[in-house]
Amino acid sequence: MSATVPFLDLKAAYLELKPEIDAAVAGVLASGWYILGEEVEAFETEFASYCGSRHCVGLANGLDALHLALRALDIGPGDEVIVPSNTYIATWLAVSQCGATPVPVEPDPQTHNIDPARIEAAVTPRTRAVMPVHLYGQPADLDPILVVARRHGLRVIEDAAQAHGARYRGRRIGAHGDVVVWSFYPGKNLGAFGDAGAATTDDAAIAERLRVLRNYGSRVKYVNDEAGWNSRLDPLQAAALRVKLRHLDAWNARRRALAAAYDTALADLPLQRPQVPDGIEPVWHLYVVQLERRETVQRVLAERGIGSLIHYPIPPHRQQAYAAAGIAAGSLPLAERLADRVLSLPIGPQLAPEAVAQVADALRAALAS
Ligand SMILES: *Cc1c(COP(=O)(O)O)cnc(C)c1O
Repeated sequence: MSATVPFLDLKAAYLELKPEIDAAVAGVLASGWYILGEEVEAFETEFASYCGSRHCVGLANGLDALHLALRALDIGPGDEVIVPSNTYIATWLAVSQCGATPVPVEPDPQTHNIDPARIEAAVTPRTRAVMPVHLYGQPADLDPILVVARRHGLRVIEDAAQAHGARYRGRRIGAHGDVVVWSFYPGKNLGAFGDAGAATTDDAAIAERLRVLRNYGSRVKYVNDEAGWNSRLDPLQAAALRVKLRHLDAWNARRRALAAAYDTALADLPLQRPQVPDGIEPVWHLYVVQLERRETVQRVLAERGIGSLIHYPIPPHRQQAYAAAGIAAGSLPLAERLADRVLSLPIGPQLAPEAVAQVADALRAALAS
């Protein structure tokens, strides 16, 4: 009987770093300082430096970070924001939370990311921004997106919630666009022990605005310049994230090795493996294949103790949450086709390299059955 293969083992990730993380968390508890402060500032400095951006602002979670990034750019009612049709719903919800309208653009079916060639046709006089998502840890094709944005005076807000450490044309994700948004949800490549998020930017004014928005619209205690939010990065999470940041490159390297092993092991199977264009260095947040008869495949994997997930089964425009937007079924066929065909295989820094062969064997059996 071979070992079970969990989709992702968060407890194993903690145990690998337990002494360091326990000490960091205990340090915060003993400090007597529990909101913002030195630990959050130290993480902001270290993460900005890691990303190659001038500023980092620690926030409560990824959705807040997306939402406040849009607010910091004064995007609101009457504005349109171009979003991928194929993304996690957070990207769309942030736009809606500002009172603006998400305008979906279809993906390149090879990379699953927003297709830059389709963006210009979606631009109207109301368009204010484009939000590319670096889905599955693979950077979207930013250069042509930045060209279109410049031509039409649009802001670029990157959703990098899955792309900690990824590179686009040699440079880390972190400041290609106006603002880059991060989630440190536990399952992300850089994950906290609870909710956490951040935004990075080279623009000092945007960073300052985000610091005000996350803290009740206040620069000076009890003086409120605008109606803000409470969306501050928790120092306990910041302390744990500082520890994990030191291991991020090594853990991403393990993911990269697993992805390469999958590429080889799955080469002769009737499925589409992830496609990585030249100049793009993904960090393999997910290893996503496209295949037919997904339910059967998932059942066979589960029978053999192998975890698998679907990212994502229902595209945002087909969710009840967006029923009022009136985007008809079939109107975004590329996103819908991906939603029907994608399957995420186990991957993570604590996955044993031997598991790849086990997953490949199970897939071979399932696809032959
Ligand atoms: C995880 C994720 C988010 C949201 O992050 P939370 O911290 O859970 O709010 C946003 N966008 C994408 C693409 C994500 O994967």
